[in-house]
Amino acid sequence: MGQRTREHSPIIYTNRAACRDCYRCVRVCPVKAIRMRDGQAQVIEERCVYCGTCVRECPQKAKHVRDDTAWAEELLARGGKVAASVAPTYAAAFVPHERARLASALRRLGFSIIAETAVGAAVVAKLTKLFIQERGEGAYISSACPAVVRYVERYAPQSVPNLMPVVSPMIAHAHLLREQHKADAVVFIGPCIAKKFEAERREYENVVDCVITFEELRAWLDRAGISFNSLEESRFDEEAPAPARAFPVTGGQLYAADVPAEFLDGTVCAISGVEDLRESLTLVESGAHLVVEPLYCSGGCIGGPAMATDANLFERRIRVLEHVRSAARDNNRKAALPYDAETLRVETFRTKFSAAPVETTPVSEDAIRRALAKIGKLDPRDQLNCGACGYNSCRDKAIAVVRGLAQPEMCMPYMRFLAERRTDRIIETSPNGIVILDRDLRILAINPAFQKMFLCSEAVLGRPISYLTDAKPFEDVASGVSPRVERTTREIAYGRVFHQIVYGMPEDGQIVGIFVDITESTLTREKLTVLHEQALARSRELLDHQIRMAQDITRLLAENTARGEELVKNLIDIAVVEAPSNPSSSRE
Ligand code: SF4
Ligand code: SF4
Ligand code: SF4
Repeated sequence: MGQRTREHSPIIYTNRAACRDCYRCVRVCPVKAIRMRDGQAQVIEERCVYCGTCVRECPQKAKHVRDDTAWAEELLARGGKVAASVAPTYAAAFVPHERARLASALRRLGFSIIAETAVGAAVVAKLTKLFIQERGEGAYISSACPAVVRYVERYAPQSVPNLMPVVSPMIAHAHLLREQHKADAVVFIGPCIAKKFEAERREYENVVDCVITFEELRAWLDRAGISFNSLEESRFDEEAPAPARAFPVTGGQLYAADVPAEFLDGTVCAISGVEDLRESLTLVESGAHLVVEPLYCSGGCIGGPAMATDANLFERRIRVLEHVRSAARDNNRKAALPYDAETLRVETFRTKFSAAPVETTPVSEDAIRRALAKIGKLDPRDQLNCGACGYNSCRDKAIAVVRGLAQPEMCMPYMRFLAERRTDRIIETSPNGIVILDRDLRILAINPAFQKMFLCSEAVLGRPISYLTDAKPFEDVASGVSPRVERTTREIAYGRVFHQIVYGMPEDGQIVGIFVDITESTLTREKLTVLHEQALARSRELLDHQIRMAQDITRLLAENTARGEELVKNLIDIAVVEAPSNPSSSRE
């Protein structure tokens, strides 16, 4: 039970069909762990710190977090004691009505033990204080946030020795649930994506079996048809002491460890957000004596990427602090752990971190220059450093191109330049005459075909269009009488016939005229019409002739018939006169 049997699959991935190649994720990723390839944004696992910023910021919802609910369901289906370790942010993620029924909902799903992860946080706070007291002055970085640990290991390896060798509240609590409650499996539920990664670290094998987010939990409850409205209120099986519930807000860990006494002498530094993290690491590197409590997400864990609530950061903080106060009002839980602290083995909660710097291929100045030259940015005056590609400067982008993380065409100004150049070429080489006018119908631009058609040169630039041709269609478009005019016009002065299209570009305040030379086809058509008419006249003539012939023949036939009849009649008369007497009549 609890043994992992799953294949590893990426924690954050991109839906290729949904990605629209907008570079927003590249821009917002604080460690540039996203590579653009074939127009798709791919997360580079070795570089990712699992902060979830790209998931939250993708406008197309193309970035997804692996859903581990099926794995949690399988753990429950196997039977045994499955514990739910619920992050203290649940106080902010659920409204009071839901919060009071959350334990019932989890029991309905099949969990045997429902416990607050903040119990583990209380142990971590104790060990943190103990560690600092033992070691004395120095620079310490809290290791409670897995995204911070990953960041330090990957991007600030020189500060790894300053990470406190204490496990996170999630890991501490899972150990407690296994040891004290004899849990067979532990499912952590919280707002954090980095915890999915932390649970899979080799050193924590078989400690936390599965991590699901609050978003996944809400979807699971929906699928299971479990509504908070239909549940009774119930308490968690294990609740945390008041101060430990403050862990998910900035400064909460030091508060729980009772460190803020030194606040005024400036030796503690509770920060959240990646920018502050970077700055605090600079302080650590400088050799300052201080305790840094960094949480990667802005505002602390309450700003986690999978909080599944619409409440703003301020409201979330208020809810967590109220949750702290509610435990403080409960005399039994003011500061006490639900276990006898003496029975806890300190070494269970100690850990070791190792530097694992991201491999950075050395990039030569020559290669950077070549990459800059490719997008026309070799000259520093052309380096706009606009950030549209997702990188802060053209140089950073060039380095990313050399490293295979970015592609030259991610530079928007360069692509626009290419598009404009392509458009210019199309206009230049068009066989149709193109003229562009300003609002006052003065000529702004003409292409070579237009010059040839209207026997002019660029000397006409700035003159009114009426100087060359009938201005009426241009006036109609300019005055709004018609958005577009299309007609055939015969330009006697130039001996040409044009099919003319005129339309406006209101956003640019310009009017475009396109002239298609149809002189040849018009002449051919006219010739054909003449030939056709001639053929028609001949046919009519022939027909008339044939009709006349037919009439003549008819008349002659009629005459011949009458004459024939007369001749036959005469012959009969002659025959009757000359015939002998009838023999039969003589025998009678
Ligand atoms: S933010 Fe990234 S994943 Fe989302 S659409 Fe833009 S490029 Fe694609
Ligand atoms: S999760 Fe964070 S570190 Fe990873 S790719 Fe997204 S923004 Fe970058
Ligand atoms: S000019 Fe191009 S390469 Fe430079 S920052 Fe802007 S988009 Fe990136």
